[in-house]
Amino acid sequence: MAVLPVLVYPDKRLKIPSVPLEQNEPGWEQMLSGLIDTFERAPGCVGISAPQVGWHKRVIVVDASRSSRVSPDSVNHGMMVCINPEIVCTSGKLRFREGCLSVPDFTGNVYRSKKITVRYLDRSFNEQVIETQGFEAVIFQHEIDHLDGILFLDRVRSLKRDVFKRQTYLPPSE
Ligand code: ZN
Repeated sequence: MAVLPVLVYPDKRLKIPSVPLEQNEPGWEQMLSGLIDTFERAPGCVGISAPQVGWHKRVIVVDASRSSRVSPDSVNHGMMVCINPEIVCTSGKLRFREGCLSVPDFTGNVYRSKKITVRYLDRSFNEQVIETQGFEAVIFQHEIDHLDGILFLDRVRSLKRDVFKRQTYLPPSE
């Protein structure tokens, strides 16, 4: 499948909450492969959610290893396709400068949990539980927010102080 068009803020479809993906949903494998193709073609992209391509199912793709921002204390599980992901445990706080494929012109400072436990179904619909922290944990929280119609712009404390216009074109990092 080809690369799918990515919805860009302020497209109202980004605000629509997504519903769980059922294994018997017709055509989901094809939509998923389109989502992955779109993710892989976006330079430096470390996460994407299904609603960003107009597919309102609870599916995300995360790959922290595509960024140079992985710090030594970060956990990195490589590329993960996560169906119906849920954050089941959180601890700590950190502030992170986030970007988004759907908000190409801005970045913003967002407070997130430092460590999280995520439960999800993999592509074979087998349950997985992982613990992660730092950069990868931020990506999960950002992408799961998309499933609830929430953008990082909705999370910043001050639109004046915590949102920054990109000076020159940089590939979106999350
Ligand atoms: Zn995003």
